[in-house]
Amino acid sequence: MCAYMLSKNGYRVSLFEKGSELGGALRYIPKYRLPKNMLDTTLDNLIRIAHIEVKFGVEMGNDGKTIADLKNEGYEAVFVATGTPAPRPLTFDRELVAKADLEGVIFGLNLLDDVDRGKVPPQLFQGKRVVVVGGGNVAFDVARTARRLGGDVSLVCLESEDKSSKDGIPADVEEIEGGTEEGIRITYSRGVEEIIGENGKFKKIKCPRCTSVFDEEGRFNPEFDRSDILYLEGDVLLITIGQGP
Ligand SMILES: Cc1cc2nc3c(=O)[nH]c(=O)nc-3n(C[C@H](O)[C@H](O)[C@H](O)COP(=O)(O)OP(=O)(O)OC[C@H]3O[C@@H](n4cnc5c(N)ncnc54)[C@H](O)[C@@H]3O)c2cc1C
Repeated sequence: MCAYMLSKNGYRVSLFEKGSELGGALRYIPKYRLPKNMLDTTLDNLIRIAHIEVKFGVEMGNDGKTIADLKNEGYEAVFVATGTPAPRPLTFDRELVAKADLEGVIFGLNLLDDVDRGKVPPQLFQGKRVVVVGGGNVAFDVARTARRLGGDVSLVCLESEDKSSKDGIPADVEEIEGGTEEGIRITYSRGVEEIIGENGKFKKIKCPRCTSVFDEEGRFNPEFDRSDILYLEGDVLLITIGQGP
């Protein structure tokens, strides 16, 4: 979008993309919400209308090009927009929750990536119990995708059902209603203190009741009632609690 707006304002713009296609995280949006041909056509049109030069397969940083290289090539300004591709790991009381490497524990974003690349069979989760952790729209994209892949899906989140409260679930109402209509069960106000496995495979999560998500200053600072524990069992655990750089 930055390239498009600059171009429309008279700048000559080159866009460097490390991959082989444009779209970034938009490609993770499930196709029932954003069909791939619509995304591709929109991007193609933006590039064409704005006369943007696109260079694929060019990585900035790491062992690739540097900003100094670009300056030497005559570019006068650089806008870095490399996104937030890294899934956020599960934490409890600011500590990483162990055993996220068990078989069956997957980051939801990686599932969406695999689906986008056509790497998963259409009935991947047939006959499987899938637990999704997260209460945002991306968690619902993951849960609804898992459901469409045949899974028996439940979603657990820290937030409460009351969207009007400070601790209310962040996902849009249409996602919550749509997911529920598709058969996804939602467990509100629960954190994940422990991932429990058996023979190297995911078995269940230990979920104390979350009594508050944000503190008085509005900071993310969840509190729990550790005497009120729920265990959620499953075959697959999909962690979808945010993305970072
Ligand atoms: C599942 C999901 C659903 C979403 N649904 C919506 C929605 O409904 N509506 C909405 O508005 N937003 C949605 N979003 C958010 C939206 O996708 C992002 O806000 C948007 O894609 C961010 O754009 P960006 O260009 O900043 O970063 P990205 O989309 O992450 O793009 C970054 C690009 O930079 C490239 N890159 C990274 N590192 C380098 C490097 N070193 N050198 C060269 N290239 C590099 C990447 O390959 C990528 O193409 C969703 C996100 C996800 C994950």
